[in-house]
Amino acid sequence: MYKSIVNKKLGYNLRSFDLTNKIYNFSPGPAPIPKEILSSISDDLSSDSKNFKYGITPAEISHRSPEFDEIKKSAELELKKLMNIPNNFKILWTQGGGHGQFASIPLNMIRTEGDKINYIVTGTWSDRAYNEAKKFCTPKKIISSNFTIDLNSLKFNEIIETNNLEKILEEDNNYTYICSNETVNGLEYREDGIRLPKCDSNLIVDMSSDFLTKKVDWNNISVAFACTSKNLGMSGANIVVIDEKIFHRKRLYENKIPGILDWNLYKETDSLYNTPPIFNIYVIEKLLKYYNKKGIDIIENESKLKAELMYEYLDNNDLFYKPFISKINKSHRSNMNIPFLVCDGDGIIMEEFLEHMYNSNIVGLRTKTPFKFEDFNMKEPLRVSFYNGISVEDVKYLIKRMEEFKQKILYKTNYYKNL
Ligand code: PMP
Repeated sequence: MYKSIVNKKLGYNLRSFDLTNKIYNFSPGPAPIPKEILSSISDDLSSDSKNFKYGITPAEISHRSPEFDEIKKSAELELKKLMNIPNNFKILWTQGGGHGQFASIPLNMIRTEGDKINYIVTGTWSDRAYNEAKKFCTPKKIISSNFTIDLNSLKFNEIIETNNLEKILEEDNNYTYICSNETVNGLEYREDGIRLPKCDSNLIVDMSSDFLTKKVDWNNISVAFACTSKNLGMSGANIVVIDEKIFHRKRLYENKIPGILDWNLYKETDSLYNTPPIFNIYVIEKLLKYYNKKGIDIIENESKLKAELMYEYLDNNDLFYKPFISKINKSHRSNMNIPFLVCDGDGIIMEEFLEHMYNSNIVGLRTKTPFKFEDFNMKEPLRVSFYNGISVEDVKYLIKRMEEFKQKILYKTNYYKNL
């Protein structure tokens, strides 16, 4: 019976084999929320109103109430503390997820029609942001010299070295856009690998999938944003961390920016121009308090350790499991999202693998993305994502089950002999 479920859904299903036991959700997002937080939310939502300190439940509070103001202010303080955000940065709670900001950025940042604007394209998400910006300006698309401009961004398997980037950027640029972690192809500007470039123009960073997993050097950054569906909370919203100086610049689209995308309006109204995602911000506040108990150093070390365990396993299993990003660029590989091929993309073995994972209560390895690998003559990788809701123990369990599957197949098919 279970077999037919997994075959029909080809491993896309998040419903696991054994619903009575722990489910290991390695999905690229929305991502797992720690159990403690979930049970505290569930307590607050229970019909016994005494659970939530405000009497009513967090699903019912008004955004204009002092109670919500308290939650929002507390979330901002916790965020500033965790990420060591300097006082010259303002936090905006915006909507429309990451895509909302893809549009907000050019609308708020363009000063004149001839502005020089750079988009460093390293994968699908920076490519999306670039394409959105093209609607409002003529940005320069910067990609690694090893690729051609029209190559599908799914094929990108390296980021641009900082040194090269500094040579490319001219001094009078308006802004340079970068995605610090490409969630689909698994490329990251990692602290221990390549640092974000020092540039004179304003640096705008999409941190959607690595925010709250490592320290950030704010000296270099004008605007950072992260959608809330990975380490932060639930999907739909977005946090923008923005240097106050940005609010005082000339804007070409000054009176034409839709209110919902206008950073200055968010600042003036304390992110209350329209009704914010109250429940999401309530969850985020809880998560931030929880993370602050650990601190960013411990979180960062754990993130590195989880990825190291996985890469070590994949690198030593090259014939059976292969990391999607080539070995030469080890320092570019993401700590958060690790795509890999099973048996060089062999469809039948991959399906058997997914079934084995399903029976092990491991889900979220295969996602229906808007980007079709087969359209570009590519083998479809599976992917594991190690956001903050995933523990080191979870990763060890995953590896154990992967090894178990490998042994099973080797025994069954004598796979190596046939290579
Ligand atoms: N940027 C990155 C790096 C992402 O991973 C995603 C979503 N997976 C987005 C932007 C888009 O975010 P949203 O779906 O919330 O618009």
